[in-house]
Amino acid sequence: MSPQNCVEALQAVVGSKHVLISDSATRFYRIGIKIGGGGALAVVLPKSLLEMWKVLQVCVAHDVIVIMQAANTGVTAGSTPMGDDYDREIVIVNTRAMDDLVPIVRGEQVLAFAGATLFRLEELLEPLGRSPHSVIGSSCIGASIVGGICNNSGGNLVTCSLTTSRASTSAADSSW
Ligand SMILES: Cc1cc2nc3c(=O)[nH]c(=O)nc-3n(C[C@H](O)[C@H](O)[C@H](O)COP(=O)(O)OP(=O)(O)OC[C@H]3O[C@@H](n4cnc5c(N)ncnc54)[C@H](O)[C@@H]3O)c2cc1C
Repeated sequence: MSPQNCVEALQAVVGSKHVLISDSATRFYRIGIKIGGGGALAVVLPKSLLEMWKVLQVCVAHDVIVIMQAANTGVTAGSTPMGDDYDREIVIVNTRAMDDLVPIVRGEQVLAFAGATLFRLEELLEPLGRSPHSVIGSSCIGASIVGGICNNSGGNLVTCSLTTSRASTSAADSSW
């Protein structure tokens, strides 16, 4: 199966508008905010869990490398290629279109889809008198809940804004 077959199969799942292939269209998704960058066969933008599942099926069938990506604000190059020496084609799956947030158990828990952002979670929880597990600076540039969990980033800054010593105690206490 050729790379072209893979692209066509991805287009059949999400529509050609949601499969980016040109250098310029994929650039934003291929380059990390601080480090990372490289080539990719395609960037795919699924709009639902069903589409994402089918996209992954196509990727497995074509034996391509899958890089999951949310807002691409991470600082580890985990959400982009890193160099151009991979042994197979790369498909970046960006989940930002899947940003549903469903509060459950009277707002004590939340069902967060892969592209849901910390910023929207904060907004959703504020009227309930609650705050997210993590409040980080990159929320304002669209960082996702899932990306933060994958990076083990943040910590609830609201509970650690007092003194340095109390801050470290609170940070240690605040659980994800
Ligand atoms: C140790 C550490 C501490 C940090 N602390 C802070 C902080 O205090 N304040 C701050 O502002 N920022 C902090 N950051 C940066 C912050 O983590 C990122 O900006 C943000 O969390 C990334 O979110 P994102 O949506 O941009 O994810 P991306 O950059 O898109 O992805 C981040 C990682 O998650 C993976 N990923 C994304 N979606 C999925 C998915 N659906 N399935 C599987 N994997 C997925 C990606 O492959 C990548 O490895 C920290 C980062 C690190 C590594």
